[in-house]
Amino acid sequence: MSNSETNNIPFYNFKKLHSEIFLNEIKGVFSEIIENSAFVEGKYNTLFEQDFAKLQGASTCILVANGTDAIEIALQALNIPKGSKVGIPGISFYATAEAVINVGLEPVFIDVDPKSGLISVESFKRILKQHKLQAIIPVHIYGQPAPIEELQVICNENNIKIIEDAAQAQGAYLKNGPVGSSPNLTTFSFYPTKNLGAFGDAGAILFNNPDEELKARILSIRNHGRSPNGHTLIGRNSRCDHLQAAVLYSKLKYINKENEMRKNIAKSYFRELKNLDIRLVPEEFITRSSWHLFPIGLKSQQAKYELKKYLGDVGISSSLFYEKALPEEKPLTSCAGEKEHSLFFAASTLCLPMNPFLTEDEIKRVAQKITQFFRL
Ligand SMILES: *Cc1c(COP(=O)(O)O)cnc(C)c1O
Repeated sequence: MSNSETNNIPFYNFKKLHSEIFLNEIKGVFSEIIENSAFVEGKYNTLFEQDFAKLQGASTCILVANGTDAIEIALQALNIPKGSKVGIPGISFYATAEAVINVGLEPVFIDVDPKSGLISVESFKRILKQHKLQAIIPVHIYGQPAPIEELQVICNENNIKIIEDAAQAQGAYLKNGPVGSSPNLTTFSFYPTKNLGAFGDAGAILFNNPDEELKARILSIRNHGRSPNGHTLIGRNSRCDHLQAAVLYSKLKYINKENEMRKNIAKSYFRELKNLDIRLVPEEFITRSSWHLFPIGLKSQQAKYELKKYLGDVGISSSLFYEKALPEEKPLTSCAGEKEHSLFFAASTLCLPMNPFLTEDEIKRVAQKITQFFRL
């Protein structure tokens, strides 16, 4: 057996991501921060905010403590009346729903497109006939851009605010520019497994809104309701540590290259898997997704679990994002909305290894094992 036959294929690859060169650089920066005792909101926060905004086509980036806070603070800053309804897709990480509830709002589920798992515009239109929504939170799930352009038209007509959950979409593209370049508030997470990850928790809110008041409100909520005139509202502590900002700033110069590597891996997966009886995401996303994850759809939940086990037995890790659709999570089962496609999508989707360092041989081996599985 050759080496590549015996080596396990990991889902993520932090060892390669945090190479010797990067670790030496970051140790130097950490020494500098410790030397200066500047632990919260230092110069690397400002440098990162400037460069990340530029990368994502936004005018402003405000770092916060994590991606969930970013959604909560965005909702709070928009002054949406307590108890209002907020539309969210049935496929996302739990935090999207949690954030809505944490700030006293009510999630209403919008179903997803059965191919991509992205929020469905058709379902959104139907929901609008039954519910008065104040806001919606489209999620750029797996790094694929949600149909913001279509949603924007409907939301403008109905005075509905949009917050884009871009936790998985650093470097992804909407139809007319990077995720973050729309007129909406866009939120990011820098949890370590995201395309751009800190050495712990961090998040950000991006926008192009020239509304200085909105910006001041976000900055104030982030920092205990402080403003130049003292404490003027009830906020929270959601500052971003200087050490985390420094990690993010140091990693930022690699993100374009790493996303390019992810895209090439996605292309190879498409080439190797296209003749099999599995659901791939729409091909139009090959160039526009950030390829945070590589989801495939099976015929049934049982087939998904069988394939996961089959791959695991030969050392190939795969993951269930998400094992349940949000409307199936216990604390959310009483929420209104549509969920048919979300349920099937969650039941039948498996994510294959995806990180910038997968080799062509490894991708071929994954595809070969999946092909064998289908011949059983
Ligand atoms: C990771 C993630 C979040 C939450 O981010 P945290 O930094 O873990 O709070 C929110 N939404 C989505 C879609 C995510 O993937």
